[in-house]
Amino acid sequence: MSVLRLAIPSPLRRHFDYLAPIGLSNTALAGLQPGIRLRVPFGRRNVIGYLLAVGKGSDIPLSSLKHALEILDEAPLIGPQLLHLCNWAAGYYHHPHGDVFGTLFPKRLREGKPQQPQGTLVWQLTSRGRGLPEAALPRSPRQAQAISLLMQKAIVKNTEFRDHSISASILRNLQDKKLIESLYHSEHSHLFKVNDSMPLSAEQRIALNAITGAEKGFNCHLLEGVTGSGKTEIYLRLIEDCLQQGHQALVLVPEIGLTPQTLARFQQRFDANIAVLHSGLSDAQRYQSWDAARNGNAHIIIGTRSAVFTPLASPGLIIVDEEHDSSYKQQDGFRYSARDVAVKRAQIHSIPILLGSATPSLESIQNVIAGRYHHQQLTQRASSAGMPDIKVLDVRRQELHAGLSERLLEAMQEKLLLGQQTLLFLNRRGYAPTLQCHDCGWIGECSACDSRLTVHRRRGRLRCHHCGDSSLLPRQCPQCNSEKLMAAGLGTEQTEDFLRTSFKQWPIYRVDSDSMQSKGAMQTLANDINKGDPCILLGTQMLTKGHHFPGVSLVAVIDSDALLFSTDFRGEERMAQLLTQVAGRAGRADIPGSVLLQTHYPDHPAMLAMLTTSYAEQARALLKQRQESGMPPAGQLVVLRTDCSDAECGEQFLQTLRERSAPFLPYGAKLIGPLPSPMQRRAGKYRCQLLLTAPTRGAAQTAAGLLVSNAEALPARHGLKWSIDIDPQNVF
Ligand code: ADP
Ligand code: ZN
Ligand code: ZN
Repeated sequence: MSVLRLAIPSPLRRHFDYLAPIGLSNTALAGLQPGIRLRVPFGRRNVIGYLLAVGKGSDIPLSSLKHALEILDEAPLIGPQLLHLCNWAAGYYHHPHGDVFGTLFPKRLREGKPQQPQGTLVWQLTSRGRGLPEAALPRSPRQAQAISLLMQKAIVKNTEFRDHSISASILRNLQDKKLIESLYHSEHSHLFKVNDSMPLSAEQRIALNAITGAEKGFNCHLLEGVTGSGKTEIYLRLIEDCLQQGHQALVLVPEIGLTPQTLARFQQRFDANIAVLHSGLSDAQRYQSWDAARNGNAHIIIGTRSAVFTPLASPGLIIVDEEHDSSYKQQDGFRYSARDVAVKRAQIHSIPILLGSATPSLESIQNVIAGRYHHQQLTQRASSAGMPDIKVLDVRRQELHAGLSERLLEAMQEKLLLGQQTLLFLNRRGYAPTLQCHDCGWIGECSACDSRLTVHRRRGRLRCHHCGDSSLLPRQCPQCNSEKLMAAGLGTEQTEDFLRTSFKQWPIYRVDSDSMQSKGAMQTLANDINKGDPCILLGTQMLTKGHHFPGVSLVAVIDSDALLFSTDFRGEERMAQLLTQVAGRAGRADIPGSVLLQTHYPDHPAMLAMLTTSYAEQARALLKQRQESGMPPAGQLVVLRTDCSDAECGEQFLQTLRERSAPFLPYGAKLIGPLPSPMQRRAGKYRCQLLLTAPTRGAAQTAAGLLVSNAEALPARHGLKWSIDIDPQNVF
């Protein structure tokens, strides 16, 4: 007995078997292809399921299987390779299949709506129609005329028939006789044009030749090129190659790295159909891009994380820009890494993939060392400017004005007077991270999280940056009614206020998620700045991704110390990446850049490393440390998290899980914890975690499978949620 094996939107990590819809013939059943949608009863609801396979028999007695209700698609929505990728991802990340498919499909398809035809309605002859002898249909001249039109032109639009006074009912008659059929035809041409490109530098040429010269099929290349070395130019050349061969290129960029500037560069180079996929699209726009990629109309697909699952009619190349960026890892729900999924996808399609970065992740460097990835390097900037000159600014015992030392202020003044731009980096938005009472010591804390509230003076509010909670900024201390409330610490709003009074003659631009909320704000800003007039840019991490500010000649990190003391095992790697990327904003045109790092710890080894060694060297030194500690990428890491309104419940759950699983762990795998999460309480929930380390991926996968099946078997506890995170980003 054939059963339909479906992925269903459900938190359970397994597939679900159904019987074919009542009345479906056996031949029709055998013809069903994986990748179609079906409507099926599930519990008391009807839901949309995705066909994974038509199988023989079921683990469940056939008598208790339900019939599927309706088949929604004639042909699969995705091909076997993408289906394979989804199955792999559901298995590797130990995540429910149904949810993985939810990531894949646009909303209207998830809701069970029909595919939306793109293009215009046209008619063509069926094979029966084509076989019609001449002068057939003598009794209906209008029908004969329609047929003869189609014989001449193969495809005829509805409107053309109307011009020949052939009505819809005549067409319907012919359709009923199975002589003609309608279809949606896209006007769009499959042609593209490549516009002029610049001559490559010697280094770029070598890298490009190495990539294009690699043997056909799957190949992963790490392109490690310093900021401004012309990585994007290499992407463009590879894409050109890919399009020439009639294939599509998929380009992934970090969450906020998809700037209009980036897009403009692609559009300038190619007169081609570029589909864009990111979180800011409406459902309809998303569907359109998705469908264009799927039916082959889009030549180039550029998107953020989830675009890695876009169906492609003819994939030829994948590029992951800024491959080290943590936004490629989804931090909730389906916790996949788009970079890693991209590599797997390239392997399944047997196509090349390029990972590019000025500051590659230790994972990718490790893969290069192990010989799994090819390695190309660009060590010089493409433009005439050299690498920026980095200096540490010791601010101990120095007077600071909204975080800025006298020496920094002088350096800024000097650049501005020369007509150049300066960029200040401060990774904390708001006015101040703490509100404190001078009389009694009260501190504003979030009632739902273990965190302090940030003062946002412009909007007169106290806000929690972890749960989003917000309240009016109090005038008086809630504890002692004193009016002596002090904002302690530094945020971008405060520094902006200071700059506006001290640098009156120059424009100041603040760039953070508060000031850049409106659509297009970033674009307007980039346009303004790139006119090149002297100005001060002040911003958070937002400033460091994907933007080109050629006029900036001085970059200063106001509070480097905030980066120094991270407790996460990736802390130093992140710091080196961030500082290198920030520093890379300086001197991208022909003006040499300088970088000043303000710190109270000028002798800290991580500070010194920034001055004396390149990122490439720092990364390799950090990799040695990871080898000693067994942390990724040297070893494997998995974390199980709980989140519960009861403080004890999660810890008990993980403790039981640990006791049940420990005796069965594969060799070398270890459990650590349960431990409270770094921020134990967040949005009213207590959070706890159990860590798993393992020497190999295989052992980690076996152990993760064991933990998941044990966790699923434990009795559900009211309000307790648990999740598993394979290759987590942050753990401590
Ligand atoms: P990256 O992506 O490595 O940061 P980009 O590709 O953005 O670097 O290039 C940095 C700058 O150098 C850009 O303004 C780009 O136009 C320019 N550039 C890149 N390649 C060349 C080249 N071969 N000749 C001249 N300029 C180049
Ligand atoms: Zn008080
Ligand atoms: Zn909060």
